[in-house]
Order: sequence, then structure tokens, then C-alpha cells
Amino acid sequence: MEAYGFIEKAVMQGRVSHAYIINAAQQQAKDLALFLAKGVNCTAEDRKPCGRCSSCRRIEASNHPDVTITQAGGASIGIDDIRQLQKEIFIKPYEGKKRVSIILQGEKMTVQAQNSLLKVLEDPPGDGIIAITTANPAGLLPTILSRCQVLKPETGQNIPDHHLYHETMVSMMEEDFTRASAAIDLLVRDTDRSVEDFLDYMLLQLRDLLVLKLAQKEDLLYIKDNGEFARRTAERFTPAELGRMIEAVSGARENLRQNANAQLTLEVLLLDIQEV
Ligand SMILES: [Zn+2]
Repeated sequence: MEAYGFIEKAVMQGRVSHAYIINAAQQQAKDLALFLAKGVNCTAEDRKPCGRCSSCRRIEASNHPDVTITQAGGASIGIDDIRQLQKEIFIKPYEGKKRVSIILQGEKMTVQAQNSLLKVLEDPPGDGIIAITTANPAGLLPTILSRCQVLKPETGQNIPDHHLYHETMVSMMEEDFTRASAAIDLLVRDTDRSVEDFLDYMLLQLRDLLVLKLAQKEDLLYIKDNGEFARRTAERFTPAELGRMIEAVSGARENLRQNANAQLTLEVLLLDIQEV
């Protein structure tokens, strides 16, 4: 089932779990976690989350005392971060109905931190919910995975068509160095967009191009409404070239995970793509 519909139904039926893993690209996963937090704390009578009540609006603005976000300050989320979360989640909600702790990029938790979180998951507070977002569930301990309900937006849905992502990718693939450099600058400075999300987006696009090239079937495309761009672009590259681009983007993704500088990573990727 589609993830938003799934959450809405669970909220309306009062069947919300104690722990979720939201498996999606960064911004998308965060949006879904906030949707969940709004749903359980919404004060509307009928459809929740309404998006309009004071509770919904303050959660959207990251200004609700019962909804907290834990994220990596530096390279990782450490045991102290999880201890803080543990302290907070056992406090009764101040004004909402449920306390919601959102962990962004859960794969950045150290093993120690994950083990500490596991203790909370084993004995969860009655009115607390933990939502772990991650694009890479393999970075979480199996014991954590087994204690959470995993939500994954359905294939082909909710993939936002970010204009900036598209512009960056197209200018890179067209080897337009000036345009690509400008787009990279914007992307690195844009605090609402992440370079990791961009690379995930680009991987999906390249995968679509390769599928179109090899299978000639538009109904297999991951990103719906991608037909025209995919058809046009797929013609320009061979499957081997697309394969090498996918490798280059995966490599960049891996470098970022190991804390490489974002700007430099994208500039190197631009050169790699020009060489495929
Ligand atoms: Zn509401």
C-alpha cells in the first residue's frame, strides 16, 4: 500500500506501531516521518493529519515540544544522541497525544548507538513513537530492523521532480561544464536539498534510461512521467556508457557516505561522466 495512505489508515484506526523504519531518500523519508508525527498529534475531528490545526502547523515548522528530531551533528549519530532521545521519549507528552522521536539518516548511528536504541525498542514507552528514516536499511542492525515496521513508498510514487536535481543531472550528462558547475554550486548551498538525495535521484534516472534502452518498455520506468526525457536521453548513450555512469554515481554516493566533501565529489563526478 502507498505509504501515506498506510499511515493515515493506521492513525485513523488507532493502530500506530511503536517503531517505524521509513526507507526512502532523505527529504522524502523526513516528510513521511513528519506526516506520521502530525497524524498522531492532530486535533482535527475527521481526517488526520489535517495540516491546518495548530499541532500540525507547529510540527511542520519543527516547533512542537513533543516531536523531536535526532540527526548526525558530525559524521555519525552517537550513543549520547540516543541517550538524549531515550530520556525525552519517556517523558509524558506535554501537549500532544504522542511523543514522536524522528531519527534522520538512521544508518549514521554507530553500532553502540544502535545497541542503545535497541534497548528502547525492546521496552518502548506507551505513548512514544520512534521513526527511523534511512535510504539504506542495510546500515541498520538486523535486530533493529526486526523490531520496526518498515515503510517504503511504493515504486514510482512520491519521487519528487526536483527542478534543481534535474538541471544538475542534465547539464552533467550534456557535458555543459559551465551550466553544470553553476548547478553544482546551487545544489551544494541549498539547505533544503541534499547532495545524497540528488545522487539517489540520479541513480534512479540512470536506471530508467538503462531499462528503456534494454527493454524498450516505458511501463517499467521507476519514475512515472519520465517517458519523454528518458526516450530522448537514452538515444544518446550506449548501455555500456550508462552502466559506467551508474558506477560513477554509486562511487560518488559511497565517497559521500565516507564524508567526502560534497562539492568536490560532484566535481569529480562531472569529470567521470565526461569520460564514460
Ligand atoms: Zn491537524
